[in-house]
Amino acid sequence: MGPLPLNELAERFDTPLYVYDLQEVDRRCQAFHTAFRDVDFLLAYSVKANGNLAVLRRLASLGSGADIVSGGELHRCLAAGMPAERIYFAGVGKRRDEMVAGLEAGIGAFHVESAGELSLLGEVARASGATAPVGIRVNPDILSPTFHEYTRTGHAASKFGVPMDEARDLFRWAWKHPSLDLRGAVVHIGSQILDPAPYLNAQRSILQIVRDLKSEGIELEYADLGGGFGVGYQGDPGLDPGEVAALLLPELAPTGLRLLLEPGRSIVGEAGILLVRVLYVKRSGGKVFVVTDGGMTELLRPSHYGGFHRVEPVEEASDRPTEEVDVVGPVCESGDFLARERALPLPEPGEVLAVRTAGAYGFTMASNYNSRCRPAEVVVDGTRVHLARRRESLDDLIQGESIPDWPEQGTDPSSAS
Ligand SMILES: *Cc1c(COP(=O)(O)O)cnc(C)c1O
Repeated sequence: MGPLPLNELAERFDTPLYVYDLQEVDRRCQAFHTAFRDVDFLLAYSVKANGNLAVLRRLASLGSGADIVSGGELHRCLAAGMPAERIYFAGVGKRRDEMVAGLEAGIGAFHVESAGELSLLGEVARASGATAPVGIRVNPDILSPTFHEYTRTGHAASKFGVPMDEARDLFRWAWKHPSLDLRGAVVHIGSQILDPAPYLNAQRSILQIVRDLKSEGIELEYADLGGGFGVGYQGDPGLDPGEVAALLLPELAPTGLRLLLEPGRSIVGEAGILLVRVLYVKRSGGKVFVVTDGGMTELLRPSHYGGFHRVEPVEEASDRPTEEVDVVGPVCESGDFLARERALPLPEPGEVLAVRTAGAYGFTMASNYNSRCRPAEVVVDGTRVHLARRRESLDDLIQGESIPDWPEQGTDPSSAS
């Protein structure tokens, strides 16, 4: 991200605050389009990385589609003006009402992950007098080299996808079903992958299935190789789409298949910063704790996945002594931290810190735990700044709750008359 007036933004919108640089989103998108320009290509952005409407609108205007995992994400995409035919619905646990919503909207396809789901989708489509476009997600049993077991999805023992040996039967079944329109074969092997080789292995599994089916007269339109492109949390460049394209295209281009990719993190991760303000600097047990007004409720990755984020003062601080500190939040959990054992110019209360590479799986995983209001989100485009989501209010916190109007049965002695 370029030099943004971070201190000004923190002043104007208060902290904790998410800031997204839309021009960085443009550049990341463009890198994919350039890398894959020699094939018919759709970038189906993974909405769960960052579903802010302003971000989705920008992506739609860049020609992107969306990879969604819930009816809620479908609602977001449609509200942002994403054309329905570019929306692909993934996820192992789609409900009937979500299938109906996808059919009514006219989405690009449902990406089905089990025989049970395929059969329900066929039933729902028939009952609606519609034909459901379908892709089948296979599990290629590839152990993707990713940083945390929670981000591996392509090995046989994960809950995702249909095992290779069952997949062919499912494709045949879908092909014959009068209310299903079989379109694609899908794979998604994990997240934060920095090595291009697993993508080639995944593509080979998919192309083998495509060839086998073709020999039986079953023609697929697209191969979807999922997302997972890693970003540089340590300040490194991350996985280059060009490098992946160089590996994939020689075998893919001759098939004439359309290619879908579902990057999330690599489109928005680097474009986002979380701004937090230092409340206290506390020394305890030989450690230095920098207590900020943001923590696991704003950015869960450090405590959930052991995710690493660079943390830097937004003001020049090179004249200050560097100390090893833990940057922690105000939440009542020992697991509430943003960074641990990090050398940082010792900040002062009131100072703003930037948590880098926070645009993906940041706000989308934010919670109201400890009755904390979720932060505001701001988008920046050059010199233009827009509040894309206001900070939650105290009334937002209790909205939708109610107390039963039953006669009170309490034994509070002070209320006895
Ligand atoms: C989460 C997810 C993605 C995006 O993963 P990134 O690591 O953010 O690129 C893509 N496809 C599916 C099916 C997913 O569940």
